Amino acid sequence: MNLELITTGTELLLGSVLNTHVRFLAEQLFPLGLRIDRQTTVPDGPAIGTLLRESFPRCDILIVTGGLGPTTDDVTRDEVAALLELPLVHDESVMEAIRARFARRNLTMSPRVALQALRPNEARVLPNSHGTAPGLYLAPRIVPSMGRLSPHLFLLPGPPRELKPMVVECVLPILREILPPQPDMEIRTYRVCGLGESMVEERLGEPLLSLGLEVGYCARPGEVDLRLIGSTAQLAAAEPLVVEAVGAFLYSKDGNSLEETVVHTFSQRGLSLATAESCTGGTLANRLTNVPGSSKPFLCGFVTYSNAAKIRDLEVPEPLLQEHGAVSQHVVESMALGALRRSGADYAVATTGIAGPGGGTDQKPVGLVYIGVASRDGKVLSQRHLIPTERETFKGLVAQAAFRLLLDRLRESFPENPPSPCVG
Ligand code: ATP
Repeated sequence: MNLELITTGTELLLGSVLNTHVRFLAEQLFPLGLRIDRQTTVPDGPAIGTLLRESFPRCDILIVTGGLGPTTDDVTRDEVAALLELPLVHDESVMEAIRARFARRNLTMSPRVALQALRPNEARVLPNSHGTAPGLYLAPRIVPSMGRLSPHLFLLPGPPRELKPMVVECVLPILREILPPQPDMEIRTYRVCGLGESMVEERLGEPLLSLGLEVGYCARPGEVDLRLIGSTAQLAAAEPLVVEAVGAFLYSKDGNSLEETVVHTFSQRGLSLATAESCTGGTLANRLTNVPGSSKPFLCGFVTYSNAAKIRDLEVPEPLLQEHGAVSQHVVESMALGALRRSGADYAVATTGIAGPGGGTDQKPVGLVYIGVASRDGKVLSQRHLIPTERETFKGLVAQAAFRLLLDRLRESFPENPPSPCVG
């Protein structure tokens, strides 16, 4: 089945709103064996009509988002009705739902609002539980001007909070009815950290392709996603190959981020964690606390940017700072140990570095960073990295390296358990 998506909205093309529908819809459609073959964005207004004429002949399913509202530039409904040569009819049940919504909110209804109760004759209404404009579904029918069948047509509202529930509650059930039985097909995402994209491909490309899998790579700062699509049996056969080839660099078998892996691994082992951050300015704590359930393992984070704060909050000895400087192995280890003592956590991770653009010297250039991990058994280990890049990327990459060091340390401490930090 060829499926196309048309997203309408001038704001999407002006860059003021990020087009999130592609991602959401792609994720929802994949389990049904459907992929978006083409996605086009058009501004509000008549451009949609031209695009509908272009898209109709080449697709079996067409999803259009936006342009169902009450304003003059919301023309999706009219353009579809015109193309299919269907009259627009007033739907009293839709009108009733709109009236009830306005009454509940004690709002006055402008006359244009009633336009949303119009639907092309033959269209099935997809109720909108989070807004006024309902979605519409039109089954294939002959398009007189084209002399051919129209695709299955779904017209959905633009706002994500309205579109998402409608897709789950109305669109997917209709698709399940119209689709032939699907072959067994799954998607699995491995996250690899510390190996470049081409290295991952060099180690795994051939063997995975020879299993008949569809293989994809996606490189992001500090990590690579290895995406495999195939049957359950093919994916099961691939797993040992992946672990063998990139096991030491693998931190997630289910697309989880590094911080999710840290939180899950610590939670599963009943361990607690604290952070002591200088150059990352709270990035580690922020990313950890974005993970649901982080309150269980994550006790606290210190952001000690100045030397005074490192001395006061982490008990870093002043002579150590004077002798080695804030960006040094000695200081990062002392920060990690201090955070451990002050928090009572089982593990503490610390960062200190020179983000730039100023502040670098020949001995300590911009991008120099030390990462340390201390644990309750008194062990402390640290790493030196050189990551010369702009500040925000620097913070992100240092956080990646810090989470990795933490997970590597856990692998070392629990060798009898599966040492891989992979969860799920
Ligand atoms: P409305 O009644 O609000 O006019 P509508 O169905 O006509 O609803 P649009 O006008 O296209 O929808 O979009 C309304 C809002 O929804 C936009 O301002 C935008 O914030 C959001 N939106 C639309 N399309 C997308 C998209 N593809 N991704 C993310 N947000 C979107």
